[in-house]
Amino acid sequence: MDDCCAVCAEPLEWVSYGPCFHRDVCSTCVSRLRFICDDRRCCICKTPSDVVFVTKALGDYTRMISDFSSLPSDVREGQVGSYWYHEDTNAFFDDVDHYKMIKAMCRLSCSVCDKLEDQPHDPSKRRGMMFRNIEQLKGHLFHRHRLLMCSLCLEGRKVFICEQKLFTRSQLNQHISTGDSEVDGSESDRGGFMGHPMCEFCRTPFYGDNELYTHMSTEHYTCHICQRWHPGQFEYYKHYDDLEASCLHFCFFYSLFN
Ligand SMILES: [Zn+2]
Ligand SMILES: [Zn+2]
Ligand SMILES: [Zn+2]
Ligand SMILES: [Zn+2]
Ligand SMILES: [Zn+2]
Ligand SMILES: [Zn+2]
Repeated sequence: MDDCCAVCAEPLEWVSYGPCFHRDVCSTCVSRLRFICDDRRCCICKTPSDVVFVTKALGDYTRMISDFSSLPSDVREGQVGSYWYHEDTNAFFDDVDHYKMIKAMCRLSCSVCDKLEDQPHDPSKRRGMMFRNIEQLKGHLFHRHRLLMCSLCLEGRKVFICEQKLFTRSQLNQHISTGDSEVDGSESDRGGFMGHPMCEFCRTPFYGDNELYTHMSTEHYTCHICQRWHPGQFEYYKHYDDLEASCLHFCFFYSLFN
């Protein structure tokens, strides 16, 4: 089985799907989108799903819920019949260990305070103070410890929330622009990370090249004639007007004589 997640491109081991039955995205990506980004739409068809079902990815043999309305409603966290329900992502699991894994991933505790309490390393066994939502945890980190999480890494990196790196303001700026702050660690720790790529027009950084490319191709314009003649070298324009002014006329005449 070499199916890969349509979002993170890693091999699909656990899949999460809603009533549209798109089984192309891994449970970690779906949970992250639902929990951290509060995005409850299917990544493929953009249909919102109130609930999702999480099961082992087995290709054509993946367990299918034929009717989502048959799932119990009005449920609380924990075991429900033969399933386990995760309230924070509104997801039903048919595997208790995977349910516990996702629950631990979404656990909102302060890693600084956790360390002081000298809890066991396994994140699922940590107790410590719990927060109701990400904003509350961010508030605590900043007011109590003067530390910040990188919001791009929070949405893009596949790690437990309590494993996200914590930066001072200046370390965070360095992390975003060049990726080599003290917190980012040695060259091998960074694994080639050189900061988050930036859209030169909006001056907004993106998690990685894929996210930047999606932004460029949806928010900015390219000249289709240049694109055809110089594949890979064409430029992006901030607004359609800029494109017309600097490129289209010249390209148009060029096209008449070629
Ligand atoms: Zn994924
Ligand atoms: Zn879908
Ligand atoms: Zn703390
Ligand atoms: Zn980051
Ligand atoms: Zn932009
Ligand atoms: Zn052009």
